[in-house]
Amino acid sequence: MATFGPASDSPEVIGKLLDAGVDIVRFNLSHGDHDSHRATLEHVRRAAEERDKQVPVVFDLMGPRYRLGKLADGQRELAPRERITLGEADGCDLPVDTPGLIDYLLPGERILIDNGLVELVVESREDETLRTRVVHGGPVSTRKGINLPDSALPFNISEKDRADIAFAVEVGADFIGASYVGSPQHLERLRGVIEASGGKSLPLIAKLERAAAVESLEGIVKSADAVMVARGDLGVEVPLDQVPVLQKKIIDAGRRTGTPVIVATQMLESMMQQPRPTRAEVSDVANAVFDGADALMLSGETAAGQFPVEVVETMARVIREAEGYRRSDSSRTFGPTELTNRAGGKSEDLADRIPDAVSSAAAHAVVSLQVRRIVAFSQGGFTARLMARYRPAVPILAFTTDPMVARRSQLLWGVQPLV
Ligand code: PGA
Ligand code: MN
Repeated sequence: MATFGPASDSPEVIGKLLDAGVDIVRFNLSHGDHDSHRATLEHVRRAAEERDKQVPVVFDLMGPRYRLGKLADGQRELAPRERITLGEADGCDLPVDTPGLIDYLLPGERILIDNGLVELVVESREDETLRTRVVHGGPVSTRKGINLPDSALPFNISEKDRADIAFAVEVGADFIGASYVGSPQHLERLRGVIEASGGKSLPLIAKLERAAAVESLEGIVKSADAVMVARGDLGVEVPLDQVPVLQKKIIDAGRRTGTPVIVATQMLESMMQQPRPTRAEVSDVANAVFDGADALMLSGETAAGQFPVEVVETMARVIREAEGYRRSDSSRTFGPTELTNRAGGKSEDLADRIPDAVSSAAAHAVVSLQVRRIVAFSQGGFTARLMARYRPAVPILAFTTDPMVARRSQLLWGVQPLV
């Protein structure tokens, strides 16, 4: 899965990216405008059609992202233990751009600026001004992002997000990326807005990137159509050393309910500037495959980096090598007893259990019968989804008559959709 942007918006580069192994395209609506996304989308559609390839498009919303406002001198240096005021008023040291935000911040809560590089802690509040103390100092500047991991924040769906949802529905998005959700209720509210825009049953990818989302993990995984281990913001909101363990827990939770899991952010970050990745990055990509992820995502590497095609070629090679190893180890095919249905718990309904039992049997039979492919006739994509969650040792060909189902099935582990 690759994010397309200025480094990947020409028909020529887009063709090369699809040939190199991009199966899913993400548009990051935090950047760019509707006209540029629409133009890129047309190139993607044409390139996919020429190649007879099913390429779903994800429109990733900005979500309730908080930022600093305009600093008087554009930037300033904060020293450790310095006392700093924050608010909407002109006299504050640091302005914030979201009206009413400071109402939600309580004494003792952290304010993280610029990917957590600078940390403040709230001491008190006086009218419209928040008094804080600097814990980790450093430079801050106009419009830097703010993370508030300790605060009970409202989930506001901004005018921008509403306009972006209407745009995504209009151009025929296959998935919507839901940023900064903290609970299944937030997903339901987004679904309401999507439906009101005419996008009935448009699947939602819940991005797990808030501490609150980790606490509601089981509920979110059950109610989302897919989830993303959004390691960029997640690594700011929870202690960074917990992220690798969370990645494994999220992938396992997704597998139990048959919810696809995307692993994202900084997978081959050094290739933004260099034609070759670090050893640690290659290992990270391979280990995300071993963890059982359905998809791996590139962000800036393909959207704004210097080597968009090389980075996809590199990731595709590493994935293939890791998958070859994983498939040779049939103990990684999962048994039915570890699985739960999408409502949680084992299904008591025999009609539900039969397709699941058949999928499980097929996944195990491929080893003893030396089968080379599993074919799933899957009108709505359900059989492919059931099949994928057993992680069989051979690819799953999902045949459907519906191009939309084919595109959306592309996200599933090991599934090659065909119309
Ligand atoms: P973003 O989401 O790239 O939209 O911030 C992914 C992440 O936070 O890792
Ligand atoms: Mn994010």
